[in-house]
Amino acid sequence: MFKTCCGDCGECWYVGNPRTCTCPDETTKRTWVGLTKEEIAEFDTWHDNREEEVGWCNPSEIVAYIEAKLRSKNT
Ligand SMILES: [Zn+2]
Repeated sequence: MFKTCCGDCGECWYVGNPRTCTCPDETTKRTWVGLTKEEIAEFDTWHDNREEEVGWCNPSEIVAYIEAKLRSKNT
C-alpha cells in the first residue's frame, strides 16, 4: 500500500483512504493574490492626495483602502 502525505503538516495516510489531517486539500486551496507594484504606486498617489486634501491620512482609512483592494482581488 502506498501512502500519500500532506504538504502542509506532513501527516501521511494510505492512498484511497480519506485524508487524516484537517488541512485544506491542495487542489481546492486558493492562491492568495497580493498587490502589484502598480497598485502599491496607485496607493502612494492616493495617500499623497489624501494628505494634501485633509492634512493627514487616518490610519483606518488606509486600512479600509488596502482591505477593499485585496478583497476585490481575492474573491
Ligand atoms: Zn495536513
